[in-house]
Order: sequence, then C-alpha cells, then structure tokens
Amino acid sequence: MVLVSLMITPLWAQEDSSGYEYSAWMQYRASETRYFDLLHTDLQVSFDWERQELIGLAVLELRPYFYAQEDVTLDAKAMEIKSVVLRGADGQSRALTYEYDDAELHVLLGRVYERTDTLMLAIEYIAKPNEWEAGGSEAITSDKGLYFINADGTDPNKPQQIWTQGETEASSIWFPTIDAPNERCTQQIAITVQNKYNTLSNGLMIDQQDHGDGTRTDTWRLEIPHAPYLFMMAVGEYAVIRDQWREMPLAYHVEKDYAEDAQAIFGHTPEMIELFSQLFGVDYPWPKYDQIIVRDFVSGAMENTTASVFMERAQVHKKELLDYNWDDYISHELSHQWFGDYVTCESWSNLTLNEGFASYAEYLWNEHKYGLDEADYNLLSDREVYFEEASDEPKELIRYYYEDQEDMFDSHSYNKGAAVIHMLRNYLGDDAFFLGIKEYLTTHALESVEIADLRVAFEKVCGEDLNWFFDQWFFFEGHPEIIVSQLYEQDTLTLTVQQVQGEESPIYKLPLFIDIWSEGKSQNYPVILEDEVESYQFYLPVEPDLVVFDSERQLLAEVTHAKSAEEYAFQMKHSKSYQSRQEAVEALFLIKDKKIQQSILTAALQDPFYAIQQSALDYMIAHEVKPKKYAELIDEASQNESSKVRSYALRYLAEDDFEEHRDKIQQSLDDPSYLVQSVALASWVENGETLTSAQLKAFSAEDNINILLAMSEYYNLQTDDASYDWYVGKFGHIDEEALYYLLQSYAEKLVDAPEARKAEAVKIYNDIAREHASYIARLSAFQGLLLMSDVEGVDQMLDEIKAEEKDQRLQAYYDQF
Ligand SMILES: [Zn+2]
Repeated sequence: MVLVSLMITPLWAQEDSSGYEYSAWMQYRASETRYFDLLHTDLQVSFDWERQELIGLAVLELRPYFYAQEDVTLDAKAMEIKSVVLRGADGQSRALTYEYDDAELHVLLGRVYERTDTLMLAIEYIAKPNEWEAGGSEAITSDKGLYFINADGTDPNKPQQIWTQGETEASSIWFPTIDAPNERCTQQIAITVQNKYNTLSNGLMIDQQDHGDGTRTDTWRLEIPHAPYLFMMAVGEYAVIRDQWREMPLAYHVEKDYAEDAQAIFGHTPEMIELFSQLFGVDYPWPKYDQIIVRDFVSGAMENTTASVFMERAQVHKKELLDYNWDDYISHELSHQWFGDYVTCESWSNLTLNEGFASYAEYLWNEHKYGLDEADYNLLSDREVYFEEASDEPKELIRYYYEDQEDMFDSHSYNKGAAVIHMLRNYLGDDAFFLGIKEYLTTHALESVEIADLRVAFEKVCGEDLNWFFDQWFFFEGHPEIIVSQLYEQDTLTLTVQQVQGEESPIYKLPLFIDIWSEGKSQNYPVILEDEVESYQFYLPVEPDLVVFDSERQLLAEVTHAKSAEEYAFQMKHSKSYQSRQEAVEALFLIKDKKIQQSILTAALQDPFYAIQQSALDYMIAHEVKPKKYAELIDEASQNESSKVRSYALRYLAEDDFEEHRDKIQQSLDDPSYLVQSVALASWVENGETLTSAQLKAFSAEDNINILLAMSEYYNLQTDDASYDWYVGKFGHIDEEALYYLLQSYAEKLVDAPEARKAEAVKIYNDIAREHASYIARLSAFQGLLLMSDVEGVDQMLDEIKAEEKDQRLQAYYDQF
C-alpha cells in the first residue's frame, strides 16, 4: 500500500498522544495462531446497490493446521449470517450450529477433525459494510472493506462503482475468512452485475455467463494461494487498455474519458516487471497484472494480488504527465507482488518486510530508468520524512507492541525500512544483495515470513553472521547522530567521529568510506565505526581540499560535519553524489564570500540534475540574487527540457523584474507544461495584465491544480458573477487536493460577497463538510464555514458537523472549536 502524500501539514500534527492508555500499548502482538489452514475460498456474490449490501455465498475448504479441532472461528464482520452448512464428501449437506457476535462466526463442526481431514463449509450471508464502525489512520482513511460509490446514482459528477480494500483486516467485512496475513488460500469469485459494468478480481477471468435479463456473471480464479487481505473486487464502467509483458496479459482500467491517457500513466509497467524479475531473480510469479483507478479510494494505492488499485488522483490526462509521473506508486505496488503477495509478512509487526521493500523498489526503478541522482533524491526526501517522524515519536522498525495495526503504516515501516535495505545493499555489494533477495523469495515462496527469515537468507549467501546489522537497525529505535570534526597539523589529518544519539539507541557498528581529496586527487578509505568516539589519522604532506564522510552517502544518520566555504565550493565541483552537491547549494546561505557563492551557483545552475538547478534558483529567488552574472545560465534554464527547471527559472525572472521579462512571461502562457503556464499565469495576473478572452476561457476550463490556484488569484480580483460561478462550477469535480485549497481561497473571496452568494456557499460547504469522501476536503469546508460564522445558522451547522464526523483525526481537531 502507498500512503497519500499531500503538501498539507495536518493541523493536528502537534496533538499530544500521551492521552493513550499505557496498558493498551503493552499487549504483545503475536502472529495469529493457526488452528486451521484455509485451502480454498469460493465466493458467489451479487449486489444490492440501494441498500449498499453484498449478497454472498462463501464455500471454504479447511483443514486443521496441526492439532485436531471440533470447532472453527471465522472472521466475519457486520454480516447477516443466513446459514452455515457442512458439505460432505458424499454430496450430503448438513446444517451446523453456530454463534455469531457481529465480528466472529463460531461454528461447531459436530465431530473432531484430524489434520488429515478436509472439510467444506458453505455460508450464506449478507455483507453490510456501512454497519461496520469505520476507523481510520494516516495510511487508510476508512476500513469498511467494501465501498459503493454513488450508489444511488444521484451524483452527476461521479460514476457508480464498487470496490474493496482488504488491508489490514477488512476483507472479512465482505466474505467470511481467517483474516490474518499468515493465512493463504486459492480463490474463485463469481461476480454477478448488470451488463453495463466491467468486473475485476484476482487471477484470470475463466468464465462469463450472460443471463439474458440484463445481468451477467463473471468468474475469476487464482490458483496460486495468497493472503485474504489481498483479495479484491472492482465493478464499474471502465475502458480497459491491454498491454503485455513477455506473453503475460496486462491491463490498465480507467474511466472512459481517460482511455487515451492510460498508456501514458501506466505504460512503463512491462519494463518495470522485466526489471524486477531480473533484479529479484524470480520472474513475476502470477498469471496476469491489472491496474485500476477507482473513485474515493481510502489510500494512495493497494497491491491486491494481480490487481492493484490506485486512487483517482492518478487518473490524469497526458499533459499533466509532462510535469510528473506516477512511477513511484506504480513501481511500489508492482514490487509488492513479490514482497507482500508472494512472500508475506506473518504479522503487522513485521510490516516493513512488505513496505520497506516496496518503498525501496521505487529506488531501484528510479535508478534504472532515471539515474542515480533521481533515485538518491527520492531516498533522501523519504529519509527526511522519517527523521521528522522519529524526532516526534521514535519506534523500533519491527515492533510487537502497538495500539492499532494501522499505526504500523508509518514512515518507519516505509521510509526507514527502505533506507535500511539500501545500507544493507551497500554493505553486501550488489551481487550478494540481489542473490540474497533471490534466496529469500525462493526459500519462502508462498509463505509468511518474519524478519529473521530475511537475515538468514542474506547470511546463507554472504557467509557472515548479520545479527549485528539486523539488531541495531530493526530492533532499536532511532538512528546514529554523528559529529565529525577534522584537524590538520604537522602533515597529519586527524578525523574524530562521535556518535551522540541518545541512550534509547545503541552505539552503532557502521562500515563506511571516507573520501579525502588532496592535490586534486581523491583517496577512498574504508572504516568501520564501532565505538562511541573513534579517531583516524592520515598522513598527508599538504592540507586536504576536502574530506567527505560516508562518501557513498548511504548512511541513515544525521551527520554534522562543519566545512569551510572553500570546501563547499570544492565539493560542489568534484563530488558525484547528489547529496554532496545538494549540501553545497544548501550551504550558500552561510557563505559570505561573493566569489565562492558565485562559483557554487554557477556550477549548480549547470548541474545535470533538475533538483540541484531548482535549489539554486530557489536560493536566488529567496535571496534576491541579481541576474546580471547569471543571465546566460538563467536563459538556458528557462529553456531546459525539465518543466520543473523552466518553471523555476521563469519564477526567478518574474520576481526579478516583471517588465523586463514581460515578453518571455507572455510566451510562457503557451508553454506545453501546466507547471510553467501556471507560473506565467500567476505572475501575469498579479502584475495587472489582462488575459485575452480565448486565454480566459481556456484557463478557466482547466482542472490542473496549479492552473486552478493561479486562476483563483485572478478571480479573487474580480467581482462579477462569472468570478463566483467559476468557483461553484469547480467544486463538484476537482480532486481533493485542489478542493482543499480552492475552498479556502473562495472563503476569502466570500468575505466581501453579496448575501446571496454567501448563502449559496454555506450550502455547498455544508454538503462537502458532511459528505465528501476525503477528510481533507471535509476539513477545508469546515474551516471555510468557520470564516462564515456570521451567517445565520452556521454555528448550529458546525455543531452538527462535529457531531457527525467519524474520522478520529478530524474529531480531535474539531474539538478545539
Ligand atoms: Zn506498500
């Protein structure tokens, strides 16, 4: 699964969590004891759209895991159980006695079953997902398992869809099962729908029956066992774009308006499957791979076996993809088909075995497709997110004590996991690392695993006991905090390295390289830090130009190493790694010497990697560095093939002197990239320039978030009806992130609005605050209403919204008002 990342700081981030009952944390989270082995699940389902219910028949084939059993407990949440029947081998059926408490179905089998016996249970049920008390977490905003979108068909802006989300334990809301990640079975699902709908599920469609009454039954089958949380279904009106990897079928399922864009969104998939098959040493292990985009998804994306689901933000037109792509999400979910689906963490405590690897697969794809800089850039950004989380709430990566399993879906399991795997790869070298992965995937194929299994696989390949590495990184909280100091005296360089992390973390054993540049050449020295303070001496006839600690920049550590302005300039010029160059640009604000500053900026503006150029331009904007010396470089940047670089160069020019660069800005209104257009547009409007009616019409019609934000600035300067109508027209269909911002900027405009417009807005905000599927949209609408509390009835409305809100994060925030 991938977390949704929005550029919005949640207002409740400062919320203190000390209110939790301490005892709740102290429950040891064992992996589920296996009383039974679930062998096969056969489902026949149809839907009642009006009641938002699933009518199902589940036939489960089970065998006692080891010890003899005379009863079985199944997870089955918020269901109406119609009957439980034992199907005998002789074709005879016998009703069984059962108890049901709305979460578990306890069935008495009528006799003792040995581990050599199999039994078949047929359960007729109705799944009622809306009766399950929805929870929520950072990663998954709701957990009711089965979702009906626009069920009554009254929302003109939404298609009607049904989809499921099983992780962590919500599959048991739509079928009775043993809902634990260490269970695994084959499956067949027969889905009956109206003819206009497509269906999708795990595995291959093996049968399609038209009933001649406007309905149809599609039967999907997966003959390789997988965990219940990875079961999925989706129903909707879709365009299905076919593709293939080797001989295997692939398909991209998007809404029909996006049929022409699906290839641009998902088209790297075959190349990714080939890459991962090669790197992991195990060919993609399933019979097909589908990717589908659904409305109002509760997470970023989800790796159901052979059928990943993506949130609707991924559904974009081609032009959007000039500025970014969804490769991180796509590679992440794809890699889960090995890490998570083929080899599965036995408990949520071991979640990083799924998520750390999937996050690291993003690195592998970026490295292969876009180069090392891109891969490092993303890894470093992810490390920063982890550092932030760890400074607030450090935890062990593998943790057996937690309050709620959803809490495991955090920047530790994902980002720290990926960073640790990267260090392991660095330590072992690529050959041993990838062979270790092959060993792990092969030995544990179609099994559940815990962290020790991973260690043993690498040990088997490389021959070394790796407990030291796994213990310090997986079982302790925190990370090394390191101070490096250097002293050159009498032909000798002395480097002192101190580990200063707190007592909760160990003194780490850290193998790394130190790079010393002297007389124009670099020497690489391997060292292993093991003590709290280590000191190294190097004989050097002349003072070194630069010392780079951890020259591969692979360490998950906060390193402080003071450098002079000259050293930073040298580092900018000579260091290959992204992090070293980025560090030099970030050091600019410390550097007073104009010449050195200029040398770093000149190099950064010509850097082959867009993020370095971006940082340089960012610095120049913030510090109003005048363009004279850099005119030529800025001009080149403004024509760079990366739209990010072009947009930053343009922003720089616009901030520097709008009049002087007016022509260029005007031209950029026609740039192929939304990002560049939006910068030009914002600056154009801000400087009082007018748009032609053709431009106004075209920009007003766009739903790209950057254009929307620029246009909201334009419309906030206007007072005519059209300026209000534009907002109202957008609210129905733009994505949650755009909605978040637009609701806020419209609330500002409304301060001076006519009463009728305010009254109209109150109704719109009230609907969104109560009914929108996205909690950030609901939050923004609530905040907008706060600004309108002078309008009659709004106070009471706010009270009602507070009372109705089910999301715990919003509840906590609303309580302040
Ligand atoms: Zn994931």
